[in-house]
Amino acid sequence: MTLGGDVALVTGASRGIGAAIARGLAAAGARVVVGYRTQREGAERVVADIVAGGGAAEAVALDVANAAEVDAVVRDVVARLGKVDVLVNNAGVSADALIVRITDEQWQRVLDVNLKGVFNCTKAVARPMMRARRGRIVNLSSVVGVTGNTGQAAYAAAKAGIIGFTKSTARELASRNVTANVVAPGFIETDMTRTLDADARAMYQTMVPLGRLGRAEDVAAAVTFLAGPGASYITGQVLHINGGMYV
Ligand code: NAP
Repeated sequence: MTLGGDVALVTGASRGIGAAIARGLAAAGARVVVGYRTQREGAERVVADIVAGGGAAEAVALDVANAAEVDAVVRDVVARLGKVDVLVNNAGVSADALIVRITDEQWQRVLDVNLKGVFNCTKAVARPMMRARRGRIVNLSSVVGVTGNTGQAAYAAAKAGIIGFTKSTARELASRNVTANVVAPGFIETDMTRTLDADARAMYQTMVPLGRLGRAEDVAAAVTFLAGPGASYITGQVLHINGGMYV
């Protein structure tokens, strides 16, 4: 129970990678606040699973693009649970379109959720973590944020921005014993990638030396490590989780 007694807030944890991260942190002993935007039932299922396994969790409505809502939720968590030890900025959306076709609205939405959302949540937890002289922030980028991808300019821009933002966070908060790191998944089987047709999936699989697509649990294991005591001297780093797709 490496995270025993810790309070962890995971955004976008109603399904997919976020749900696996919430389960992983809870299995390591953290009390987990399971954020959701639209899928309340999904978040409540994650909470029920954690509680059934002897852990502690609660579901909280949290739109990361809404700074006022983020502030209110973090203030409420600190007031009720006393602290936030771990923040996992997982919430994300994609809106795939070529640069010549993407609309201003699509561009703005992807940047608002994927990049401004990370800023909103980090800003909200920064003071409580600095006051506590302890904190772990783990941000979800993507292999695409490093390599770029046709049809994903907005998504890649946001995910690349997360890397620069995290390195700045690491430098600003290090003196208060707060670490900030990135995990950059490759192709992980979730709702986000389920829309791809069989040919596209097979094509991606051929690009993975380990020979399989990733699972949400592969990402959750890395996040749990970065949130735990074994990672106390690691900050400002990007951990790639992609089966060797990008080396
Ligand atoms: P997913 O299955 O589509 O789930 C997205 C999650 O984000 C849901 O829980 C959703 O909440 C939440 N969300 C969306 N907009 C939100 C908002 N404005 N505020 C708060 N929550 C919001 O995605 P995933 O595949 O698990 O991806 C999780 C993260 O990993 C994302 O940041 C994604 O970019 C990144 N990633 C994924 C892959 C991959 O291959 N899947 C690869 C690299 C990086 P509701 O369900 O409640 O609406």
